[in-house]
Amino acid sequence: MEKNKRIHFNKPYIIGNELEYIAQAVNNNNHISGSGPFTERCQDILEESIGCIHALLTHSCTAALEMAAILCDIQPGDEVIMPSFTFVSTANAFVLRGGVPVFVDIRPDTLNLDEKLIAPALTDKTKAIVPVHYGGMPCAMDEIMDVAQKNNLLVVEDAAQAYLSRYKDRPLGSIGHMGCLSFHETKNIISGEGGALLVNDERFKDRAEIIWEKGTDRSQFLRGDVDKYSWQDIGSSYMPSDMIAAFLLAQLEQAEKIIASRSRIFHQYYEELKSLEAKELLRLPHLEDGSTGNGHLFFIIARNAEEYRGLVKHLASENIQAIPHYVALHSSKAGLKFSRVAGSMKVTEDISQRLIRLPLYYGLKENEVTRVTQAIRDFFR
Ligand SMILES: *Cc1c(COP(=O)(O)O)cnc(C)c1O
Repeated sequence: MEKNKRIHFNKPYIIGNELEYIAQAVNNNNHISGSGPFTERCQDILEESIGCIHALLTHSCTAALEMAAILCDIQPGDEVIMPSFTFVSTANAFVLRGGVPVFVDIRPDTLNLDEKLIAPALTDKTKAIVPVHYGGMPCAMDEIMDVAQKNNLLVVEDAAQAYLSRYKDRPLGSIGHMGCLSFHETKNIISGEGGALLVNDERFKDRAEIIWEKGTDRSQFLRGDVDKYSWQDIGSSYMPSDMIAAFLLAQLEQAEKIIASRSRIFHQYYEELKSLEAKELLRLPHLEDGSTGNGHLFFIIARNAEEYRGLVKHLASENIQAIPHYVALHSSKAGLKFSRVAGSMKVTEDISQRLIRLPLYYGLKENEVTRVTQAIRDFFR
């Protein structure tokens, strides 16, 4: 019976005081719109844990990326360097401002933006670089910041998957001029939909707040800095309800525990599959200095597209939900219309046809992980 129970790719979970805090938001605080007491507590935790100068909760990482694109002052025709092996929002946020995503290939080991390909992709229209920390594993930020500085470019870290992951002891999201986090239910720390913009440069602090508050200086008004508030700039409604922040606070309070649990699952997968990698039957995530990042995702890379299809089918027949990741943006319908590539996309095209993500969520049991790895071993028997 146990054998056939479905193992889902992801499951949302309650870990602590989520529901109690939501009740408090409604009953005690009498504040359920945005920018309330729970929002403030979440932002304090983010500022403390990441070390950014200002954190603003948003209703998604997509929203945070859109705010970042406004703050970068992207004008029609401005180019933004990013990987094609990423989620749609990384590119869309800049396209909404008239920007042109310029895709460069990823590294075959980390699957992150290949930092050596950035300089050759620059033109006099390049305005920003958006490194994506795939699976919470860090991009080569020293090299990326160096190219940016030499060419006067802004860096927005898409740290959607990377909360509490580090690069040389520095939290991801704290290194670029801005960082963007996601609390979508598929990420490590969740609030259904949710995200945050992290500001690491004083220049952007005040404007970020105005964009967040629908283009008004309402935040300054609430602090008593101005005696009425009014329309100051472009902006939108980017803040979540304080009920969402209440849910999120309970998760943030347990972040270390959630990440420790996910990292244990990551390690178990790694240990139980490494003999297959040693036989060169498949590839596992590349561990920089042995670090598993924040245990965000575990994937296997099949030897070719045919074996990939066979593996997914075999796992499905064992009632295990294993799924691919990104359809390379440069080859998608909108990507062809709105963006361009710089150089070969060989690694991106190859990897996106062979990578399979395995079930990984808080509460996934040890014997379930073993069922997945056993099914993979059976496939190669
Ligand atoms: C999940 C994700 C996003 C989008 O996050 P939302 O909160 O769903 O908007 C953006 N970029 C990357 C790399 C992601 O993984």
